[in-house]
Amino acid sequence: MDHIFIENLEVFANHGIYEEEASLGQKFIISARLYLDVAPAAKDDDISRSVNYADVCADIDRWMKDNRCRLIETVADRLAKKLLKELAAVREAEVTVKKPWAPVGLPLECVSITVTRKWHTAYLSVGSNMGDKEKYIRGGIDFLKGNDSVRILDVSPLIQTAPYGNVDQDDFLNGAVKLETLLTPHELLDLCHEAENAAKRVRKEHWGPRTLDLDILLYDSLVMDDADLTIPHPDMTNREFVLQPLSRIAPHAFHPVCRMTASQLLGKLLGRNGVEEH
Ligand code: ADP
Ligand code: MG
Repeated sequence: MDHIFIENLEVFANHGIYEEEASLGQKFIISARLYLDVAPAAKDDDISRSVNYADVCADIDRWMKDNRCRLIETVADRLAKKLLKELAAVREAEVTVKKPWAPVGLPLECVSITVTRKWHTAYLSVGSNMGDKEKYIRGGIDFLKGNDSVRILDVSPLIQTAPYGNVDQDDFLNGAVKLETLLTPHELLDLCHEAENAAKRVRKEHWGPRTLDLDILLYDSLVMDDADLTIPHPDMTNREFVLQPLSRIAPHAFHPVCRMTASQLLGKLLGRNGVEEH
């Protein structure tokens, strides 16, 4: 992808673990590779469709001086995320923070940290079968929106479905959400749990009644499985109440294990070769 490269911007600031580093300050050298499509700006020769690198340099300089971090790991992580949040056209950022005066007690040219951060696309399923179900679902989505590392891109219509697993409970309202996020999969799962807790969800039984359930269906084309998190969601392929709303907002969302789109998975589940696309 096209990128703008800001190379070795010098800034005097006060980050560091040692007291002297915080009080006296030192030199930092910042590089930022900002990935974006520059074709629209180039076509019209229009800077408003690209990134003004003079403004970005001034912004990095100000941020470095206004903040104090102990680690350059933190500086690089926060700078990359700040640039991604503020520069709408930028999809991915690689930030390097060099510390040429690092107090290591030995001659050294510099020590540096490089991080890469990007906007990831994820799909969630949302469900509720207690109380004012729609209100819990809308409240859950608003909770996600309250995090500035999440942008909600689309929400499907909500559908009513009979309970799954333990059938002796109220009907469900289900939907799907498309979002982009700077969070890692585990951070996104934690945020989903915070939203569920804010809806006063009590975990008593598996598949039991719940005010709010937020599950991660897909996260880019990631395939992962650990003690707390499996992506793609292991049950999504056999749940019509997941695939139907997902197909409404993202018929072409691709399941990286089945190698089928949401629409194809729904068609397969319903015993057809394909379904109408809405
Ligand atoms: P369920 O969603 O299956 O009805 P819970 O919401 O209580 O049940 O989830 C139980 C656990 O499932 C969560 O604490 C979480 O660690 C784990 N889990 C594994 N993969 C996922 C995923 N893709 N999305 C959400 N939770 C997941
Ligand atoms: Mg869940």
